[in-house]
Amino acid sequence: MPSSSPVIELTDVTKSHRVGELSVRALDGVSLVVREGEYVAVTGPSGSGKTTLLSILGCLDRPSTGSYRLVGDEVAGLDETVRARLRGRRIGVVFQAYNLLPRSTAYENVELPLVYAGISARRRPPLVLAALEQVGLGARARHRPGQMSGGEQQRVGIARALVAGPALLLADELTGNLDSKSAGDVLAVLDQVHAEGTTIVVITHSDDVADRASRRLRISDGVLVGDQARDQTLTSGPVASP
Ligand code: ADP
Ligand code: MG
Repeated sequence: MPSSSPVIELTDVTKSHRVGELSVRALDGVSLVVREGEYVAVTGPSGSGKTTLLSILGCLDRPSTGSYRLVGDEVAGLDETVRARLRGRRIGVVFQAYNLLPRSTAYENVELPLVYAGISARRRPPLVLAALEQVGLGARARHRPGQMSGGEQQRVGIARALVAGPALLLADELTGNLDSKSAGDVLAVLDQVHAEGTTIVVITHSDDVADRASRRLRISDGVLVGDQARDQTLTSGPVASP
């Protein structure tokens, strides 16, 4: 089977955080390829560098050294303004705490990325409604976050991340605030989004989340120490991606 094209290509990425006079090395020589259509879970102990990795993948931050090609374009050296524009076009991020605007409806929350992207008011409604339908919330468009369950709010967060048609969906502990039933609903939505072709990278402490992914990466002290395709758990070491 021919390999699909790379969405993420990290080559020897390091990231150091400045803490006063000191520098803390959060990522240390990370190289990684994630191809179109993959569903990858990143696991690792607290402090291992997961959030730092997500920030770089999401163009929220940039590597100290090394290369990051996103859908073929080198982005490691770009300044904040250009990265922000790129992020809006190519990346959707889902946050643990949903980060919805509390006074805005589900519809308005999902519409916002399209407003930022400069999509005309006439073209926005079908895109917003399609994204809400995709997460099973077509009937909740007029509800505000406070009128929805945690699971529903997170599904709005997923719709917002998907509405602009990103090449990559990133999530950091997206079920961390949810009970197991709601978490299951959210993960079922993610399975469906993946089945429809979206490339997904989730960061998680939870085996329930990681078990849904088709590939699991483990990070420890800023170094990738494991890379396993699902259903090949007896194989150790790097495994070719599908
Ligand atoms: P994880 O998400 O796996 O818990 P992080 O990426 O948040 O790990 O952190 C990795 C390492 O980098 C830790 O040692 C952490 O203390 C440090 N770190 C993360 N962010 C910052 C920051 N903004 N300033 C200083 N140190 C940081
Ligand atoms: Mg973290």
